[in-house]
Amino acid sequence: MDYILNVKDLKKYFPVRRSFVEILKKAPERYVRAVDGISFKIKRGETLSLIGESGCGKTTAGRTILRLIEPTGGKIIFNGKDITKIPEKKLRPIRRKMQIIFQDPYASLSPKMKIGEAIAHPLLIHGLADKEEAKERALKMLKRVGLTPEEEFYERYPHHLSGGQRQRVVIARAMILKPEFIVADEAVSMIDASMRASILELLNDFKKEYNLSMLFITHDIDIGKLISDRIAVMYLGKIVEIGKVKDILNNPQHPYTKALMEAVPSIARRKRKKKVKIKGEIPNAIDIPPGCRFHPRCPFAMDICRKKEPEMVEIEPEHFAACHLLK
Ligand code: SF4
Repeated sequence: MDYILNVKDLKKYFPVRRSFVEILKKAPERYVRAVDGISFKIKRGETLSLIGESGCGKTTAGRTILRLIEPTGGKIIFNGKDITKIPEKKLRPIRRKMQIIFQDPYASLSPKMKIGEAIAHPLLIHGLADKEEAKERALKMLKRVGLTPEEEFYERYPHHLSGGQRQRVVIARAMILKPEFIVADEAVSMIDASMRASILELLNDFKKEYNLSMLFITHDIDIGKLISDRIAVMYLGKIVEIGKVKDILNNPQHPYTKALMEAVPSIARRKRKKKVKIKGEIPNAIDIPPGCRFHPRCPFAMDICRKKEPEMVEIEPEHFAACHLLK
């Protein structure tokens, strides 16, 4: 199998600042365990959605994989090469192949830069084209993402554009480098609902055209199912279930996955008999509950759940979940 990305036991902990009194008392260091040992692979040309509530660590996971923030532990293998610790200088040519589309198209673009220049800019930064060629390629890319007449759009500034149009610019800027892998972080969540389907379609078109692999980060399982080949469900820094879209939708195994589905009317309608309701909010990632970290909210929690962390169990080919009920 040709995997573009292999993430092994990836961790990202952020130290919590101690108060003066805590330092005097030599209180132990504490950490926000935002990503707490996640492992998964992405095949070439495949889209994996990373799904979970806000605060589950999915955005930190995406940024750590791209080395926009440094991992605390684990390994990131990209195109067969361990990039976990390679220095910034050596990482630069690899970065060209790995791009990110941020959630907020308003904050992603400089208000002082023309749209066309923003798209051409990465080509100049990476020394892949001179000014004239970069402009030509940016014009082609504007047309490709549906912002026509492209000459007119080239001269516009971000404030002239709608949210959906800005996100097309952000996608064009990422795609002009012909990446092999994209992290799309809540890429449609700030866009008007009527525009979401067309942005997802645009990403899907690029996926086919460039044989692009994608980590699609979203809190919305309904959106994840539209764009993904597989889904990974994340809870409090861990992946609790991973599998093909159809297996996760038709045969969810982890109580948290089932509860997430219940929150989505279009999926819940099909699953009405299997209602799983969870209580409370996601705890903070400093004081992670022992055993199964979902146990304080799980309606099926047993004694063992409070003591022992469940391991991933294979349910069917490529479908795994971590829950003591599955043994
Ligand atoms: Fe619930 Fe226990 Fe399964 Fe965790 S291991 S999801 S607490 S039943």
